[in-house]
Amino acid sequence: MDSKERMKQLVDTLNEWARLYYEQDAPVVADAEYDRLYDELRQLEKTEGYSLKNSPTHRVGGAPLKKFEQSRHLRKLYSLDKCQSFAEFEDWCARVVKAAGYMPPLTCEYKFDGLTLNLLYEGGELVKATTRGDGVTGEVVTAQVMTIKKLPRKISFKGVIEIQGEGIMRLSSLARYNASAQEPLKNARNGAAGAIRNLDPSVTAERGLSFMAYNIGYSEKSFETQAEMRRFLVDEGFEVEGAFEVANSISNAVDFAKSTEKARPDLDFLIDGVVFKVDSVALRDEIGVTEKFPKWAVAYKFKADEMTTRLNDVVWQVSRSAKLNPIALLEPVDIGGVTVGRATLNNYGDILKKKVRIGDRVFVRRSNDVIPEIVGVAVEDENAKAIDKPSVCPVCGSPVKEVGAFLYCTGDECAPQAVSKLDHFASKDAMDIDGFSEKTAEQFYNEIGVKSAVDLLNLTAMDLYGLDGFGDKKINNLLAAIEGAKHTTLDRFLFALGIDGIGKKTARDLAKKFKTLESLQSAGAEELSAVDGIGDVLAQNVHDYFANEQNRKFVSDLLARGIEFEQTAQKSGVFEGMKLVLTGSLPTYKRGQATALIEENGGEVASSVSKTVDIVLAGEDAGSKLEKAQKLGIKIIDEEEFKRMLAIE
Ligand SMILES: [Zn+2]
Repeated sequence: MDSKERMKQLVDTLNEWARLYYEQDAPVVADAEYDRLYDELRQLEKTEGYSLKNSPTHRVGGAPLKKFEQSRHLRKLYSLDKCQSFAEFEDWCARVVKAAGYMPPLTCEYKFDGLTLNLLYEGGELVKATTRGDGVTGEVVTAQVMTIKKLPRKISFKGVIEIQGEGIMRLSSLARYNASAQEPLKNARNGAAGAIRNLDPSVTAERGLSFMAYNIGYSEKSFETQAEMRRFLVDEGFEVEGAFEVANSISNAVDFAKSTEKARPDLDFLIDGVVFKVDSVALRDEIGVTEKFPKWAVAYKFKADEMTTRLNDVVWQVSRSAKLNPIALLEPVDIGGVTVGRATLNNYGDILKKKVRIGDRVFVRRSNDVIPEIVGVAVEDENAKAIDKPSVCPVCGSPVKEVGAFLYCTGDECAPQAVSKLDHFASKDAMDIDGFSEKTAEQFYNEIGVKSAVDLLNLTAMDLYGLDGFGDKKINNLLAAIEGAKHTTLDRFLFALGIDGIGKKTARDLAKKFKTLESLQSAGAEELSAVDGIGDVLAQNVHDYFANEQNRKFVSDLLARGIEFEQTAQKSGVFEGMKLVLTGSLPTYKRGQATALIEENGGEVASSVSKTVDIVLAGEDAGSKLEKAQKLGIKIIDEEEFKRMLAIE
């Protein structure tokens, strides 16, 4: 396609989008998408040196709606030049310096994301409210704007003055509204714009809008600076929420943008950037305006957090709490520099409420680290099909029950248990597979069908390729970790199996006593309970576990994947062949540290005092064990003696 054709295509697309947006209150694309094509067009016009007659670059906003009465603003409302990086902002500053001769102070304020309004006050009373429209003429929405509760109807200044600001819907108001609304609003921006540009003011009233004043247009009172205007607005009782600063350097302005972007997720309203203006009004006149915008102001736009894309399919994931979560599979789309291919649809109730269907073009929002979310339908597809409500669990096939907006699997052996077993198997004290977390277990379970430890050991790079968050490096690391974990010790393996009641210590005791898996597996309950620290219940659990055919198969399947046990070499040292018991609290060593020292030096730690015990290491508040040791005439040492034996200073 040559550049002229592309230009024509861009103009047609943008004009159609703008018409839908402004004239039918039906946004079909996210602002960032519009901006992207718009920027491409503007760039093309610049390089080609001409523009088409009906190019949207010639006008500000859309044509006013015909149904509203029209009104001409006393002073034109410009749109803002914008930049999307700090480098672009610095370029803009350089142009200001060129025009002004120096870098003047800049005011920094929020760029609210709503509908721009122009309010006319005469004789101290609000006489007219208009939308921006095309910047010259807007729609009269006085009755609608009058429903905004905190808006001052009267001000002390009696002359003619235009107050400009943004009609917005607070996020708390949006949440309140959507909680009971039959037709939930897609977002606060459309909620505000649609409410103000609604012929019925009672609709506006229901949405609980706010007006954030930020500028003064025509005025019979003169102002010397933006900061002075701001003070006037505050004094007259307008809402001017949001940070405001006068920056004396470019770096201060950049800092303001950075801190605002950080604060953005916690705000109760939408902002899509910050606005920088030359503070001095006199200087502004010197710097001047272009056809479209003033050269003394610029909007620094944050990265987009919402785009539209096609909903290709929906899959259901079962969470650890047995809840079925709908996951949207999307035509991959770039949102603020991140490619998004999956998003949450929250729950079945939400799908019904939002009327989302497979094939539709949908709005996807991604903010910070939150999972991307489908916020609503942008364009319905005539061939779209409804999202089926699953009647059985996609994981285990058990019936699904509906509780409120949510669906739950009723199976006992479904995802939650399996995921927690996998997580346990790989945990640090078990097989110690580095980089495999509970989150990974859940992801693998849901996305690549890893249902057991055997599946985990079977994984190949091919299985992991394309998984969210798994690049080549991470895949290699994980596979290496799995491979490395196969070389383990019997006690770790026993603990990893997750036999009821078998913790780290018991696993160690069993391994020490039986030495090999074969002898443990063939041990009777009685033999097992003879092991120090193993009661009858635990002994029975272990016996039952290995008596179960499924479990035996599971264990042999694991071994067949290459698991081998390191023979815990008989350590030699001062405690070689000795059994020690710890009791009371030692002055400096923790119990685990003392145990490790004993084991490293060939000794064994027992939990109770009996005739077979050689030494009792006693600390403060040693109770019955110490008494028993004294009775049995067992050697008792304190920490000092212990250290001396180990030749530790
Ligand atoms: Zn299930």
